[in-house]
Amino acid sequence: MDFQLSEEQQQLRRSVREFAEREIAPNVMKWDEAGEFPMETIKELGRLGLMGVVFPTEYGGAGMGYVEYVLAIEELSRIDGSVGIIVAAHTSLCSNHIFVAGNEEQRRKYIPKLATGEFIGAWGLTEPSSGSDAGSARMTAVRKKDCWVLNGTKTFCTNGHYADVLVVIAVTDRTAHTHGLSAFIVEKGTKGFRAGKKENKLGLRASDTAELIFEDCCIPAQNLLGKEDDGFIDAMRVLDGGRISIAALSLGMAQGAYDVALKYSKQRKQFGKPISDFQAIQWKLADMATEIDAARLLTMRSASMKDAGMKTTLESSMAKLYASEVAVRCANESVQIHGGYGFIKDYPAEKFYRDVKLCTIGEGTSEIQRMVIARQLLKD
Ligand SMILES: Cc1cc2nc3c(=O)[nH]c(=O)nc-3n(C[C@H](O)[C@H](O)[C@H](O)COP(=O)(O)OP(=O)(O)OC[C@H]3O[C@@H](n4cnc5c(N)ncnc54)[C@H](O)[C@@H]3O)c2cc1C
Repeated sequence: MDFQLSEEQQQLRRSVREFAEREIAPNVMKWDEAGEFPMETIKELGRLGLMGVVFPTEYGGAGMGYVEYVLAIEELSRIDGSVGIIVAAHTSLCSNHIFVAGNEEQRRKYIPKLATGEFIGAWGLTEPSSGSDAGSARMTAVRKKDCWVLNGTKTFCTNGHYADVLVVIAVTDRTAHTHGLSAFIVEKGTKGFRAGKKENKLGLRASDTAELIFEDCCIPAQNLLGKEDDGFIDAMRVLDGGRISIAALSLGMAQGAYDVALKYSKQRKQFGKPISDFQAIQWKLADMATEIDAARLLTMRSASMKDAGMKTTLESSMAKLYASEVAVRCANESVQIHGGYGFIKDYPAEKFYRDVKLCTIGEGTSEIQRMVIARQLLKD
């Protein structure tokens, strides 16, 4: 068992960290306060190969694996979780769904543009009345001659307003429940499709969360993604990888919250000494560092299993559940270590506290992760 990163992986981590500190850190609060989507930064990440880390070079990707993808998401999220979730939804949900379920023509048409950031991707499964119970989706897709007609509404779609390509799941056979859902590729500008309400959020405010509205939206028959009625099964496979990226997003924000708390504890003096001299603060730091390490090990285990071609339903859910709950605890303690300054927007602890909460909700809540884990444990 080898716990060391290779020289190339360490170099990738260093270069993403430098990029995030140089290009993202100075803008974080401006983007957050304005709810501004960091388009230029996302395009630059595309030029650097970070919008398609896991895809083969022949499809325009960086030709790396999930371990490298975790490193990149972690380092981006250590500075700004909004950038982390934009890249994660684009890569492991939209692009990866096309890559794993798409035919060769679909792969060739979309992956190179997505992997280089020329196109931004989004993935819509959730609907107003179906979140955790995603199989009860209501949006319909009806085949008419050489097109599919989509009708319905998706909600909470990351990147929805900015996406050039979207993957959406719709009902093709109402009688078959989860075996009657199919996935479709929708291009921006298709008649009958528009992004609706932009959500005004607690955190991750520079990321976009959109309603998607489909009204008699005709898409070409060849935009069916994967086999008809296999959309839900494919979506669950996609989420096995997606949950690794939410674990990495959590890990990055937990590490960021810890780093600023450690630094502050050495600078802030009370009772004539740095607060890091007090055992109460030291124990908080010790618990944070230990839990972050454990979360990283779980996340890297699922990433390296994925790279080895193994099924990771159990391990991805464990990593996502644990890392997201660690991130919430670490952000809370980071604010506590900052005292009153943790409550003030001049210090990054405040933003981590707001941003991390999404991690216990998106791509399956903590309750749903526990259901997935228990189901796997009780399977045999
Ligand atoms: C910022 C943001 C970005 C998102 N991005 C995307 C995206 O890009 N694409 C997309 O498709 N979706 C996206 N989502 C949606 C997200 O995946 C859902 O919000 C999530 O799955 C929960 O669904 P829900 O909000 O409907 O909550 P509900 O399912 O209504 O859950 C409410 C509560 O009930 C609990 N609960 C539900 N069922 C059970 C059960 N059986 N047992 C125990 N407890 C249960 C839940 O855990 C939760 O605590 C995003 C959400 C947010 C907030």
